[in-house]
Amino acid sequence: MTATATLHIDLDALAHNFHALEAQTGVPVHPVVKADSYGLGAVPCARRLMQEGARTFFIARAAEGIALRGALGPEPVLYVLDGCVGDTAADLKAASLRPILNHADQLGTWLGAGGGPCGLQIDTGMNRLGFRPEDAPEPFDDLSLVMSHLACADDPAQPMNRTQRDAFARASSRYPQALKSFANSGGCFLGPDYAFDAVRPGICLYGGGPEGRPDARLRAVATLSADILQIRDVPAGESVGYSRGYVAETPRRIATCGAGYADGIARSNSPAGQVWVAGGLRPILGRVSMDVIAVDVTDLDVRAGDAVQLFGPDRLLDDAATAAGTISYELLTSVTARVPRNYA
Ligand SMILES: *Cc1c(COP(=O)(O)O)cnc(C)c1O
Repeated sequence: MTATATLHIDLDALAHNFHALEAQTGVPVHPVVKADSYGLGAVPCARRLMQEGARTFFIARAAEGIALRGALGPEPVLYVLDGCVGDTAADLKAASLRPILNHADQLGTWLGAGGGPCGLQIDTGMNRLGFRPEDAPEPFDDLSLVMSHLACADDPAQPMNRTQRDAFARASSRYPQALKSFANSGGCFLGPDYAFDAVRPGICLYGGGPEGRPDARLRAVATLSADILQIRDVPAGESVGYSRGYVAETPRRIATCGAGYADGIARSNSPAGQVWVAGGLRPILGRVSMDVIAVDVTDLDVRAGDAVQLFGPDRLLDDAATAAGTISYELLTSVTARVPRNYA
């Protein structure tokens, strides 16, 4: 092993979550594999999801779709959420990608380039991408999917969920020939009338809970671990790391671990971040450095070469995100290219 920080991806856990979402919603799951499957590797994740029965995937960018088409071959249906941006129509068509058309210019560009299978996004209140319902186009040939996106799906008590759901049901009824897709991960848990024809989860496939906290129905998929590089005893009164970020009030035993902000460990882990080591949670001490963090291992039986877990089955992604003042999505997509991914 040459790296001291590694991201392990448990593809069986990914498959488990895929089937859990199918069971939860009762409709086909169309995985969102944008941003390299939230950093976990779009090609290995999509390949495994195809083995489990997935036939349609969503990515954000045309370039992501082109790469995925090359790796997966002609079979899966690939929708590009950005839509038909700039002069990408020819590239989209060459790779048999289906743009999600978000506004009239995109629709005109796509049809002007000869058209082909595509989707349509209706904005039901998020005010991000998509046609307002009153501006949505007449039905047209080649329209294979109509979708919208929830703004508050992680909060089941938010009344806007119902408002958006009803607006989508109304607006999408104009397109009887198209598949209706509404729910992201959170939407999969809002009730059967949010499922429509197919759901579009991302984070729950990758082990994040639908409400930003751990959910026992889902398994951890990604484990970020770092090796202990050195163990040292720090006398009372001495400090650890940059800017005296931590000062030992009593004698402490410190493990310097090989993962830092250049690996994706947020500096906002100071002061509340914790890692799992030797069967328990221990605090990250002081500043996160570029390549290392310091962990308090006082009274633990650990040595150089042992690993600590930043997130994974023992330090759940949502808890790690909360301690760092962020969300599971950002934690996963922040793991940098320096960190090797391994799969099992
Ligand atoms: C990212 C994204 C999703 C997946 O969202 P999760 O919350 O990760 O399930 C679904 N739909 C759209 C439009 C998205 O941008």
